[in-house]
Amino acid sequence: MGTRVCIETWGCQLNLHQSEGIAGVLEKAGLTVVDRLEDADVVLFNGCMVRGKAEEKLLGRIGAVVEEKRRRNVVFGVGGCFGQVYGDTLFARSRAIDFVFGTRRHTELPALIEAARRDRVSLLAAADDISLEETPFRRASGVTAMVSIAEGCSNACAYCIVPRARGPMRSRDPDAVLAEVRDAVRGGRREVLLLGQNVNAYGTDRLEFGGFARLLVRVADEGPERIRFTSSHPRDMNQEILDAMASRTNVCRHLHLPLQSGSDRVLRAMNRGYTRESFLRLVDAARRTVSTVNVTTDLIVGFPGETESEFEETLEVVREVRFGSIYAAKYSPRPGTRAAAWDDDVPTDEKESRLACLLDIERTIAAGENAELVGATLIILIEGQTGDGRHFGRADDHRTVVVEGQVRDGDLIEVRIVSASASALIGEAEVS
Ligand code: SAM
Ligand code: SF4
Repeated sequence: MGTRVCIETWGCQLNLHQSEGIAGVLEKAGLTVVDRLEDADVVLFNGCMVRGKAEEKLLGRIGAVVEEKRRRNVVFGVGGCFGQVYGDTLFARSRAIDFVFGTRRHTELPALIEAARRDRVSLLAAADDISLEETPFRRASGVTAMVSIAEGCSNACAYCIVPRARGPMRSRDPDAVLAEVRDAVRGGRREVLLLGQNVNAYGTDRLEFGGFARLLVRVADEGPERIRFTSSHPRDMNQEILDAMASRTNVCRHLHLPLQSGSDRVLRAMNRGYTRESFLRLVDAARRTVSTVNVTTDLIVGFPGETESEFEETLEVVREVRFGSIYAAKYSPRPGTRAAAWDDDVPTDEKESRLACLLDIERTIAAGENAELVGATLIILIEGQTGDGRHFGRADDHRTVVVEGQVRDGDLIEVRIVSASASALIGEAEVS
């Protein structure tokens, strides 16, 4: 058997998708991708560093590779956002690391792995690298195809490492996107998930590509049964995109619209480019245009200088909007970002209590919203299995449903909701 590679991935869906590209490149070069570190000759960590916690998790996992290296010859590489930002300095952090790679130039990985058998090597992209690589993909899911529509991010949110790690936004040619969607549909995928750090800004770097609204309609017209997209930036969201969502029944009624904070002062300091008022107007427009749309969000607590009353303003928006779900995190300073130079002055225990309070309020809201669905029949796309062997899937509006009954991954079926909690709905497959 040839060289066997194990890829472990941390972080967002974009990173998971990039690992599908890395796996595709390696397979094309004749390597075999395996699931378990114990079975691999080459181990690749595709790391995240959006928060300190993501970094700690990756560093903690290096021990497992060190153990394996004691027993046999393993080549070990660390990359992704983590590799791109820290670069060659990682060699000093752990003697186990043989090569470092970044967020781009993944087609060169087979050659890098070969070189790493002889010497410590790195392969990083220049900060202003605007190239856009097309790779084959080894897709992890037979149900949902992730399709990237743009790489990188040209915003400058004060807290965020992404622009440094991934470079400026580069929109993909719409024809390449559509070809990939067509391929996914032909391969039996029922759902397409369009990915970008700021999908609403699609095409602003290449006006000849047209904007996101147009791309969304073209993707929908290729015929996938479901289309999702993430993330939307509130500043770049507009009526045209909402109208595009409403115009096609296969575009899911879900809008992930990261708010980050409900305080205008904090939003200004974060450089988000919208106000609490304009965000609320946007949610209103979304609900008027796309009936029953489920709005979800990201929030950061304890941003530098965030006062108790500014945090209260975030809670007010959360209570007013009634998000279907939220991803909330404590602020964590990231190297080289603008906010990292500011005093991280909200003490850790205060950040923790704000986070707990926020999650508590959201739990009550989500439980209430979900309870209203008991008795309803929803169309669910079955995505996989829970730890206890039951299946789960998602409703069109992104709510998770655990489904009892004889179902298989990829089924798109009617499910009657029988009970609800804050995090999930439980349903029974309707027998037709
Ligand atoms: N591009 C998307 C956007 O603008 O919302 C999301 C990008 S980021 C990978 C995902 C989420 O991580 C952000 O929405 C934010 O809430 C969170 N995040 C980013 N940097 C952070 C930091 N330094 N500390 C805490 N959370 C952070
Ligand atoms: Fe980071 Fe802001 Fe870009 Fe999102 S829009 S990736 S938060 S810089």
